[in-house]
Amino acid sequence: MKIPITKAWFGPEEMRAIQIPLETGWVVQGPFVREFEQKFAAYVGSPFAAATTSCTTALHLAVASLGLKPGDEVLVPALTWVATANVVEYMGATPVFCDIDLNTFNVDASQLDARITPRTVGILPVHLFGLCADMPRILEIARKYGLWIVEDAACGFGAWIGKRHAGTFGEFGCFSFHPRKAITTGEGGMVTVRNSAFDAKVRSLRDHGATKSDLARHQAKASFLLSDYPHVGFNYRMTDLQGALGSMQMDRADSIQMGRTNWANAYHEKLRDLDWLRLSTIPTGFTHGYQSFVTRFEPESPNFHSLNRLHEQRNTLMASLEDHGVATRQGTHAPVLLEYYRTKYGLRAEDYPNAVLADRLSITLPLYAQMTDEEHDYVCERLVSARKLAIAA
Ligand SMILES: *Cc1c(COP(=O)(O)O)cnc(C)c1O
Repeated sequence: MKIPITKAWFGPEEMRAIQIPLETGWVVQGPFVREFEQKFAAYVGSPFAAATTSCTTALHLAVASLGLKPGDEVLVPALTWVATANVVEYMGATPVFCDIDLNTFNVDASQLDARITPRTVGILPVHLFGLCADMPRILEIARKYGLWIVEDAACGFGAWIGKRHAGTFGEFGCFSFHPRKAITTGEGGMVTVRNSAFDAKVRSLRDHGATKSDLARHQAKASFLLSDYPHVGFNYRMTDLQGALGSMQMDRADSIQMGRTNWANAYHEKLRDLDWLRLSTIPTGFTHGYQSFVTRFEPESPNFHSLNRLHEQRNTLMASLEDHGVATRQGTHAPVLLEYYRTKYGLRAEDYPNAVLADRLSITLPLYAQMTDEEHDYVCERLVSARKLAIAA
């Protein structure tokens, strides 16, 4: 049996929808992107949503709209995809890393205060693997120090705190539609915004800094006149083929989320008694979106001395799963361990112990809505037998 880490769910609706832009000839950001934005905004409960080419460019638009500049500092979790920190670097500003809580893999909000300086301008919380960061606490800190919040909700689709969806807590929320995420447009992203001025800024910056979109210009009189360009913008426009795909994925979103959640719950049921594997805990009132099902390999309580040995054991386990056709991944990386950040800021692993543990010991299991009982059982059985083999060896 061959089980991938994830699998996109496309059907005849997607197949048909992407042909329409080819037939009409309008293939750049247009009516389908608009439709996708509207469905997305309604789903997450945001007044505005603007599609982009990726979550990375969504984050770039957010920090550019906020006027982030050299000398500014932004708080970033020590465990996240490197793009979260990179967008701060794009603006010449400085990411200040903060360690995580191992139970949730999200930033440890109780450590944020200590990292705030007179230069701190904002917080970039990440809803890692589909679980919201501790937003009530983070909002309190942001208010206390007058900081903005840009949520990296790349993995946050289907993540809620009570009735509030990820991406609606801060000034900006940024989503990803890469195939590793719950719904996909190949590449793609979305910026959710609460206020209309920021929405206009984002829309302008994604389109070279233009005052109006090509579609609006084509539909108006005097379409031969170009708009003005008051900002130095970017070209981060989503194509209408991707917009068509995204719009159809939104119609499927509930089924996708229900399927992912069922299989994640089934992992919790079947794996919770394994004493060598830790599952993450979901705080009361939080709904996990399950972008990924990430566990920690912990046959013993890890420390800095045992870490390398346990890391090797974890890798042996993952190699054995790979040999049996089961794809796994480490949860994500700790940017504090990556060469660029380590050397530029002289970062030391000891200062981010939890992020380092998560980087070295996490195991992501396959998860997708269309999984079968047989596949799910197989993953669990292989996981247990791989561990038994390792102990026997
Ligand atoms: C996937 C991911 C990104 C990047 O998203 P792209 O759409 O590939 O740019 C950023 N941050 C986090 C936490 C992610 O998981």
